[in-house]
Amino acid sequence: MKVHLSRPDLTDREITAVIEVVQSPVLALGPNLTRFESAVASYVGVRHAVAVNSGTSGLHLLIRAFGIGDGDEVITTPFSFIASSNCILYERAKPVCVDIELDTANINADLIEDAITPRTKAILPVDAFGQPAKLDIIKEIAERHGLKVIEDSCESLGSEYKGVKCGNGAYADGAVFAFYPNKQITTGEGGMVVTDDPEIARLCRSMANQGRGESGLWLSHERLGFNYRMDEMSAALGWAQMQRIEEIIEKRQRVADMYYKRLSSISGVWLPKVAPEVTKMSWFVYVIRVGVDEPNHKRQMEIRNHVMKVLTENGVGCRPYFTPIHLQPFYRQMFGFKEGDFPVTEFAGRTSIAIPFHNNLTCEEVEYVAQVLEEGLRTA
Ligand SMILES: *Cc1c(COP(=O)(O)O)cnc(C)c1O
Repeated sequence: MKVHLSRPDLTDREITAVIEVVQSPVLALGPNLTRFESAVASYVGVRHAVAVNSGTSGLHLLIRAFGIGDGDEVITTPFSFIASSNCILYERAKPVCVDIELDTANINADLIEDAITPRTKAILPVDAFGQPAKLDIIKEIAERHGLKVIEDSCESLGSEYKGVKCGNGAYADGAVFAFYPNKQITTGEGGMVVTDDPEIARLCRSMANQGRGESGLWLSHERLGFNYRMDEMSAALGWAQMQRIEEIIEKRQRVADMYYKRLSSISGVWLPKVAPEVTKMSWFVYVIRVGVDEPNHKRQMEIRNHVMKVLTENGVGCRPYFTPIHLQPFYRQMFGFKEGDFPVTEFAGRTSIAIPFHNNLTCEEVEYVAQVLEEGLRTA
């Protein structure tokens, strides 16, 4: 049996939407882009949405749009996908890491204020695995210190914190969603910047389109820009997926429930915990931890790696999620980060495994994953 880590879930509606684009003469900058942006903006409850060609591009645009540059500091989490810190480096600013909370694996809001310096310009929380960070507390700290909040909501389309959707302007000055095939909805490659600030939206739209202004003149470039545009095929796919976003989130919740029910009886497995402030969870991936009761770091890692080996050998897709950003070779080199700098992040990094998770995972597949997991733990 083979159980894939991730699979897109596309219906005839999505396929038809893409075919219609390919049969039309407009393959870029067309009506699908506009309607996909409107669909996401109204869903999240923000005034502006700008579609781009990846989540990483969107994060880069927000860093630039907020004028963050040389020597500025941005407070962020080291327990994330690399792009949430790289986007800061693109503009020669400095990612200032603070450690995470054990249960949610999100930035520990209690540690943020100590990391603020006169050079701090923004806080960049990540909603890890779909679970919102402590967005109200982060917003309050940011306001008190005159900082921007750039929310990396690339993993949390549809999640709600205290009744407010991730990416919403109540907590974030700007946020980004991503649509790589393993995300809640996909456009192949793609992302979207959302904000209530018309000026930030205007800057992002211009920079994503080679710095063109609103004059509509194709060869008039008002500022340094990039080609971060999303094409019409991708936008059509995204729009069609947005029509069934609630169904998608429900299907993912169903899989998370199946895992919870089946895995909670296995000793030696730590299951994801959703904080009470999270009024709606839109699951991105399902990340368990193993070896957490083991005091020895090396042994924790041995158990995790052994379990992953057994899963892999038995056809069960899995991945260590995440490898801490500060321990990536070039971050160590650039900033002198070392093991021990962010103990909770490193603990999560040593013990975490993402197991197969997608809309249509079956009962039988969950049972198989559980059995292989049990064997892995038994022989660790
Ligand atoms: C997916 C993701 C991104 C963006 O990824 P792209 O591949 O550039 O679309 C950024 N941050 C996090 C936390 C992500 O999971």
